[in-house]
Amino acid sequence: MWNRRRGTFLEDLAAAGVTPEQVDYVVITHMHVDHVGWNTRLVNGAWVPTFPNARYVFPGEEWQFWKHENERGADEYGCIDDSVLPIVASGQAMLVDDTHRLDRWLAFEPSIGHTPGHVSVRLTTGAREAVFSGDLMHRVVQVAEPQWSSRFCYDGKQAAQTRPRVRRAPRRHRHADPRRALPAPGRDRARARRPALPSDRLGGGLERPPRPLATGDQRTIRP
Ligand SMILES: [Zn+2]
Repeated sequence: MWNRRRGTFLEDLAAAGVTPEQVDYVVITHMHVDHVGWNTRLVNGAWVPTFPNARYVFPGEEWQFWKHENERGADEYGCIDDSVLPIVASGQAMLVDDTHRLDRWLAFEPSIGHTPGHVSVRLTTGAREAVFSGDLMHRVVQVAEPQWSSRFCYDGKQAAQTRPRVRRAPRRHRHADPRRALPAPGRDRARARRPALPSDRLGGGLERPPRPLATGDQRTIRP
């Protein structure tokens, strides 16, 4: 599965001139199995952080939800056990609010529905902006039919409310492009008008776990 894959990820990283020790931040949009793989790797029978010097930035809402799901045995892939809990155990997890700003260029934005704490990450440079939109969309058809949610969405109704706001985003966000996550070749033909992500606070309709964090709070999780 996505959390236990073998592949050339680290070799590809090395080819780009980056060693695991050089990575200082790992940013998590949500904790589905295909988005937490390579957080860790198996060394001598134990799952350890792939990036020993990094802080792993978790949306607090997302962490609380999946912690709860894991504790009640509802993580069907076991990815919280092998790809998230070892990060917590190592003291490298940094729990943040869904509007957390990592630095002057990178900031979280809530884009909930796909999961209860799903966030997107906005990159702002002096020239342009881009948004890493996680699983805001899964298929090209959602560009034309943003009210259609996939079966992977935790709250399809909420996700359906979030996506149209992406299409109505202001012009200055025109380089935010959720189609990047879509499969080829459809993504190349998809036409979304100025897609971007809303600054949307968590709305109603979700069955949410307790949220112990105050707005703007951040902390390192201790095991
Ligand atoms: Zn997902």
